[in-house]
Amino acid sequence: MVQQATVQKTTELYRGKAKTVYHTSDADKLILHFRNDTSAFDGERIEQLARKGMVNNKFNFFIMQALEQAGIPTQVEALLSDDEVLVKKLDMIPVECVVRNFAAGSLVKRLGVEEGQALTPPTFELFLKNDALHDPMINESHAVSFGWASSEQLQQMKALTLRVNEVLSAMFDDAGMLLVDFKLEFGVFQGNIVLGDEFSPDGCRLWDKATRKKLDKDRFRQGLGGVVEAYEEVAQRLGVILD
Ligand code: ADP
Ligand code: UDP
Repeated sequence: MVQQATVQKTTELYRGKAKTVYHTSDADKLILHFRNDTSAFDGERIEQLARKGMVNNKFNFFIMQALEQAGIPTQVEALLSDDEVLVKKLDMIPVECVVRNFAAGSLVKRLGVEEGQALTPPTFELFLKNDALHDPMINESHAVSFGWASSEQLQQMKALTLRVNEVLSAMFDDAGMLLVDFKLEFGVFQGNIVLGDEFSPDGCRLWDKATRKKLDKDRFRQGLGGVVEAYEEVAQRLGVILD
């Protein structure tokens, strides 16, 4: 872990549904504070789940370090505390990239297909990051014409997202889990596309390979209980040190 003791938290920049973002004494860096707040249905339902901020912060740091080692440029600079990470300040692109290896969630509702159907090759989708509009699905042409991202940026985001899928599908498979789907957000740092936000069980679907037990935020969305316990099980299976 790189020590960044000289960077101080200053003012609050943004309070999102799950994280609070702070400016720091370094204009190029931000601190992400992972809170225990857990939301579903575009923030219509919010609950506090003890330990979730800590688990997601450490989980996210572990995953981003693994992605960095695999050659994917990420925001991550240093783990600062149980629930805070120092990151590069990105100019965020308001487009969410979603890859699916198995049908679930909104895809099942939209196309009436069966949950769990394997998708070969994996699908790649874009959504506009806009809670008021319920994050509508968009295509590349919308993103370019409305100026949300350039064609070149979208091409890079797609290639990086598919590469993340290869790296993480293998990692979860080795730990006895299926990476069903996930969402990534990218931003621009000094002219380059960099992976931002977070990768945690809040933003992906993970099923036990043998039983297909849900180990992600669907436990919260569907009222299945044992939400943070499932996140901790995922972390423990991957070898993330939590305490
Ligand atoms: P939301 O905005 O969806 O409620 P969060 O509670 O996770 O989500 O808030 C985190 C916010 O910080 C998001 O809007 C995200 O786009 C933004 N963000 C994440 N990483 C970075 C970064 N490295 N630089 C700038 N903004 C970031
Ligand atoms: N996702 C997310 N944030 C969003 C929308 C989706 O992290 O605002 C994640 C979600 O957890 C899942 C994947 O992206 O792993 C695909 O989500 P889907 O389109 O199925 O939507 P959902 O039914 O989860 O809202």
